[in-house]
Amino acid sequence: MFLSTLEWTCRKRGVFFARVDPKGTSQTCPQCGVHTGKKDLSVRVHECLACGYTTDRDVAAAQVLLQRGLGVVGATRAVGRTAPTLVAAAGYAVKKPVEATGIPGQ
Ligand SMILES: [Zn+2]
Repeated sequence: MFLSTLEWTCRKRGVFFARVDPKGTSQTCPQCGVHTGKKDLSVRVHECLACGYTTDRDVAAAQVLLQRGLGVVGATRAVGRTAPTLVAAAGYAVKKPVEATGIPGQ
């Protein structure tokens, strides 16, 4: 229900909408992409032994969702003021970043 409402709202406002796979977002490091393994729900901090990136578990999962959303629109990173818009919609919808730069696959 939420996704269909969000999709309708995006279409009405001319915002690109795409669903992204939410699987494994808490098991992937948003900084280096390494699979960090399954964590118990009581573990609230993401700590990557490969790159040292440490942040809140939910923040890390949202960052992975954002990256997947950016991948859908063909951008590898967001610049300037597009990032907050993308973060707010991460996981379910992505506003096509007009200021996004990057070459897909790099
Ligand atoms: Zn890492």
